[in-house]
Amino acid sequence: MNEQIQTVVIGAGVVGLAIARKLAMSGREVIILEAEDAIGTATSARNSEVIHAGIYYPKDSLKARFCVAGNRALYQYCNERAIPHKRLGKLIVATSQDEVASLAGIQERAAANGAEALRSLSKSEISELEPNLSVAGALFSPSTGIIDSHSLMLSYQGEAEDHGAMIAFMSPVEGGSIGEGRITLSVGGDAAMQLDCLELVNSAGLGAQGIANRLQGLSPVTVPPLHFAKGNYFTLAGKTPFNHLIYPVPVAGGLGTHSTLDMGGQTKFGPDVEWSEQIDYSVDPHRGDGFYAAIRRYWPDLPDNSLQPGYVGIRPKLAGPEGGKYDSDFLIQGPSDHRIKGLVNLYGIESPGLTSSLAIADYVLEQLEQG
Ligand SMILES: Cc1cc2nc3c(=O)[nH]c(=O)nc-3n(C[C@H](O)[C@H](O)[C@H](O)COP(=O)(O)OP(=O)(O)OC[C@H]3O[C@@H](n4cnc5c(N)ncnc54)[C@H](O)[C@@H]3O)c2cc1C
Repeated sequence: MNEQIQTVVIGAGVVGLAIARKLAMSGREVIILEAEDAIGTATSARNSEVIHAGIYYPKDSLKARFCVAGNRALYQYCNERAIPHKRLGKLIVATSQDEVASLAGIQERAAANGAEALRSLSKSEISELEPNLSVAGALFSPSTGIIDSHSLMLSYQGEAEDHGAMIAFMSPVEGGSIGEGRITLSVGGDAAMQLDCLELVNSAGLGAQGIANRLQGLSPVTVPPLHFAKGNYFTLAGKTPFNHLIYPVPVAGGLGTHSTLDMGGQTKFGPDVEWSEQIDYSVDPHRGDGFYAAIRRYWPDLPDNSLQPGYVGIRPKLAGPEGGKYDSDFLIQGPSDHRIKGLVNLYGIESPGLTSSLAIADYVLEQLEQG
C-alpha cells in the first residue's frame, strides 16, 4: 500500500516554500519533498538577495507581472513579520552617451510594467547620493531593496508548518507516473517510498526538468531544455564605497556586473554570465580581471587586489547562448497546458524568482483550482 497525501511540493527553495505555505493556508494537506537535509541550499542560497522592482522584463511577461506584484507583497510581508530587509533604492548607471540614450527606454519599460516610477538623476544628485561614482547619467529606482532571504524562507516554512505542512528532507524524487485521478511518486533516500498524491507541484529549480522527464504520462514535448548560466560573484575587501545598489545598464543574459550590499554590509559584485555544461559552483579567480574592468567603468577608484572570489549561483535557463524555442520568461505549466489534472511544473525560475515568490505562489494556487 502506497503512502497517500493530498498535495506534494517538490523543492524547499524560496519558491517551493512560498507555494507550500500558500497551499497549506488554502486548507490542503501538504508535504514538501526535499532532496537535501535543509531548506534553501540551492539557488535560493546563491543569489543577490535583491528585492527587484520589475523594471526590465517585457510587458505582460510572467516575470514583469510577478516581480511587480511580488515586490509589493514582499515588502508588506517583511514589514508585518519583521523579516530583515532594507529598501535601499538603486541607481541604474550609464557609462557612455549610448547608454545614457538607453536610460529613457528603461524608464518607459518600468512604467509599462507598473513598477514604481524611476527618476532621472542630475549630475549633482548623483554625486550627492554616491560620491564615488563616475558616470554619464543615472536613474533612481526607489522600490529596489535587499533582504535576508534565509529569514524569509524560515518564515515561509514556519507558516506552512503552522498550517499543517510537513517537510521530508533527504527525500529525492526519482520519478513517478500519472494515474487515474492521482500521481504516484517514487521517493528515494533513507525512507524510500511510493507516494500517491492528488496534486503535485514540481518546484525543484535546477532539478525540475529531470523530474518532469521521469514522470510517466507527461508528454516529454512539454518539458523545456535546461541550460546552466553560472553567475559568479566577487566580494570587496574593505569599506563599502556605495550607499545604494549600483547597476550598470543590462547586458545579454544578466543584469551586468552590479554592486550590491547584503544585510551584513558586505559589498559584492556580480553576477556575471558564464555558460556551463554542468552544475559547478566554483569561482574561477581569473574571471576577476573582467570584474575589475566592468566595475571601473563606474567606479574608477576600485583599488587593485581588493576583490576576492565569492560564490556562484546558477540560472536555470530555458535557452542557451544561441537562443532557442523558449524566451527568457518563467515557464509555469498547469493543467490547461499539459492536460494533467493537479500537476504544476515550474521551469526557468531564475531572477526575479525570490522577489516574485509570493506572487508565484498565488498563481500556482489559481492553476490548481482552475484545473
Ligand atoms: C546568480 C543568481 C542571482 C539571483 N539574484 C536574485 C535576486 O537578487 N533577486 C531575486 O528576486 N531573484 C534572484 N535570483 C533568482 C532566485 O534566486 C531564484 O528564482 C530562486 O531562488 C528559485 O527558488 P526555487 O525554490 O525555485 O529553487 P531552488 O532554490 O533551486 O530550490 C529547489 C529545491 O529543489 C530541490 N530539489 C531538486 N531536485 C530535487 C528532487 N529530485 N527531489 C527533491 N528535491 C529536489 C533542491 O535541493 C532545492 O532545495 C537569482 C538567481 C541566480 C542564479
